[in-house]
Parts: sequence; structure tokens; C-alpha cells
Amino acid sequence: MKLPYAEPFKTKMVESIRLSSKSERQDWIEKAGYNLFNLHSDQVFIDLLTDSGTGAMSDKQWGALMTGDESYAGSSSYFRLKNTIKSLTGFDYFLPTHQGRAAENVLFSAILKEGDLIPGNAHFDTTKGHIEFRKAHAVDCTVRSAYDTESPDPFKGNIDLNLLEDVLKNNPIEKIPVVIVTLTCNTTGGQPVSMENLKGVYHLTQKYGTRVFFDSARFAENAYFIKEREEAYRNITIREIIKEMYTYADGMTMSSKKDGIVNIGGFIAFKEKDWFEKATTYNIMFEGFITYGGMAGRDMNSLAQGLMEATGYEYLESRISQVAYLGKKLTDYGIPVQKPYGGHAIFVNAGKFLSKVPREEFPAQTLAIELYLEAGVRAVEIGAIMADRDPDTKKNRYPELVMVRLAIPRRVYSNNHMDVVAAALSNIYERRDQITRGVKILKEAPILRHFTVKLAPVEKNTE
Ligand SMILES: *Cc1c(COP(=O)(O)O)cnc(C)c1O
Repeated sequence: MKLPYAEPFKTKMVESIRLSSKSERQDWIEKAGYNLFNLHSDQVFIDLLTDSGTGAMSDKQWGALMTGDESYAGSSSYFRLKNTIKSLTGFDYFLPTHQGRAAENVLFSAILKEGDLIPGNAHFDTTKGHIEFRKAHAVDCTVRSAYDTESPDPFKGNIDLNLLEDVLKNNPIEKIPVVIVTLTCNTTGGQPVSMENLKGVYHLTQKYGTRVFFDSARFAENAYFIKEREEAYRNITIREIIKEMYTYADGMTMSSKKDGIVNIGGFIAFKEKDWFEKATTYNIMFEGFITYGGMAGRDMNSLAQGLMEATGYEYLESRISQVAYLGKKLTDYGIPVQKPYGGHAIFVNAGKFLSKVPREEFPAQTLAIELYLEAGVRAVEIGAIMADRDPDTKKNRYPELVMVRLAIPRRVYSNNHMDVVAAALSNIYERRDQITRGVKILKEAPILRHFTVKLAPVEKNTE
């Protein structure tokens, strides 16, 4: 018999969680304005809101905390992290930031002007927020297959190179300072970008005289998919794949809360010195001196350790197998999810699941609320609420695909927890025809509204 796979780690410390009663949850979600971001964590049983900063650090990472160097300038922890980033990516220049969006803020402050165009593959919400806040435009060039959840395309994070070339060719190139490729593409379901596509994007940016940066939060998971799904890389190690990936980039922004397996942190890295120098001024203003930039020395130390752990094959195999385990369970129950399964999350096709709820009543948010009420599971809406209003017309934007993301924290939950999540969704799926009304917005912020929006259920037959 072939041995089943098991996690390449065991548990050293545990944290208690509790399943509340349904009436408790009803009360809590109402008080939270039907916004799952407003729940207290002890009101949640299984928290799949995000995989960001929610991972479990290893004993070696906790050990690294103790040997962190808190010197204001020239900390040895900074140099340890700098060397780790250099060895993984080849980049010589790096700036620490307190998290990923801070990296975006610093980079875009240095290079973006009003009216610029930033092509990419379905930009992450904070990336788009930072672009639109500066009155620039994020241009989505993702391949079409990404929007068909049943398409078996193994690389639904890819950029459509013809679309990208059209944008580069038909606009003044000085209005396109950078192309952003997100690895993996969270917005389309944690879907990977192939090496061939990264190469193609780089070739185009070189041809038209611009640059490409990778939004790298899940770069290691992306590398794992390249190894699994791109024939030429089957026998290449994860770290060699990562090294090659970054030869096709001019730099990267990083949210270390994902594939850094730390609770907070981020950075920017650059191939060339010019943008590093420009960005340095903003880093010092917004984040801190260049050798800490918003991070404690101990946190840089444990990030350096986390980056090495996150790029190990056995770790990645167990992580991505767990995500696939949940995906397969849901598929077996007939629930429509984005396929192939992504790297960090399963994305439930909420538009299809709750097909009777009109798009104006936010079916994805409605499903996320139902899931919380059913089993205390917290997921997140990736739909029309998150898509914000169009900055020019102020109208609601309705994405083609509206989804509920079940993001799985790294090294935190067991497959028993996954079984609970799947059973809860299956129960809702069985009574899906009775769910015909969704929610309405009572109060919203002008940008990134999903974090703070206040909602109320739309009652049947009333308005
Ligand atoms: C999380 C994330 C960000 C933002 O990073 P924070 O650390 O949350 O500020 C940017 N891009 C991608 C792809 C991310 O996943």
C-alpha cells in the first residue's frame, strides 16, 4: 500500500476554540452589522477569513525571535533577512515594511502619477486601492478561463499576453511605469501563473521599455504549482524555480503574512538601484529607517526563518494538499467551487450556489453570513461588496464571478476542521432554494468598503 501523506510537523502548543450556539451567533452577527470583519474572534469557531498573518510559527521561528537584534541601524536581523531574500530571489536591494500594503504605498508613492495605467492579473484589493487612490487605473489582463470555474486550465492566474501587448502598444509607455503580476492570483481563486507566462510578460515589458513587479504574497505556493503542473519543471527544486521566476521581474512587493509565515511584516525588493533609491525616501517617511522599516528586529529574524520553511517542498505539499482535501469534499457534495483548486483557499462560486439571490443583494456576502450562522465558520466575500463602486461613475461594480473564499491558515487547522466546514456548506446547499433574498448596504466607506460596511438583511417581499 502506498503510504498516505502526513504533515511534516507535529503540534507543540494548542489554542482552545469553541463552537457557540446558533442563537448566540444570530445575535453576534446582527451586532456586527452582518459584516464578518466586525465579529470578535472568540465568536468564531473555525476562522477562514484570511490566511494573512494567521499561520502558526515553528519552534525555529520562535527561537529566532529570541535572537533578534533591535539596533536602530544596521541590525544583524536586517542583514539575515536581506541575505535570505537575495538567496531566494537574486535581488540585491530591499526595504522592510510593516506589511504588504505598506510596500505598495512606498513603491507607488515613488513611481506612480495621476492617470497612469497599471496592467496586471486581477490586482489584489489593497493594490487596486493604492492605484485608484492615486487616480491611476488598474487594467485587468487576466486570461478569460479564470472566470469560468469549470475550466480545467492549470494556470488561471496567467496574463493574456495579447491583451497586455494591446495596452502597452496603444498607450504612451511613460504612462505605464510598471506591470504588476500577482503570485498566486488571489482574486481569481489563488490561481498560479506559469513560468512560461512570467517569461512572456517580462519579454513584453522589455520590448516596450517598462518594468514588471511581482506582488509576491504567495510566491512559494506559485512555485509549487509550476513544479506540479509545468512539465519542464517537474525535476527542478522549489528554490531553483523561485530563483528563475524572479529573473523575469524587476522587483517585488511582499506581504510576509502569507508565504513568510509570520504574523506581521512585508518588504519591497528591487533588481536595480534607481527605484530602490527613490523608494527609500518614502520608506523612511512612512515606515522607518531602511534597516527596519516598520519591523522589529526579532520579526525580521523570524521572517528570514519563515521564508526558508515556506519554500520547502514537504511543507508546500502538505499545505496545498489540505486545500485540495477541502476542495474535493465540497466537489463531492456537488458544491460549485473554482477548479483546479487554488493554493491558499477554496473559492465557492456563490453566484451559482445562491442563484436565486439577485446580484444587487450580494449573494456572496449572503452565503458567508449563512456559513457563519450554520457552524461558526468565518469566510470572506470576494464579490460586489469587495469590488467597490466605480471611482468615476460611483456605480456598484458587479464582477462576473462572485465568490466566498475559504482561506486556510498555514499549519493551523486539521482535516477534521475541514470536514466541519464542508458539512456546514453541504447543509446550506441542501436548502439553497429557500434562500432568495440577500443583504442591503446601510453604510459604506468610499474605498475598500468591505472592511467596514454595515449591512442588513433584505426581508422577503419587502424593501
Ligand atoms: C495580503 C496581500 C497584499 C497586502 O498585504 P498586507 O500584508 O495585507 O498589507 C497585497 N497583495 C497580495 C497578493 C496579498 O495577498
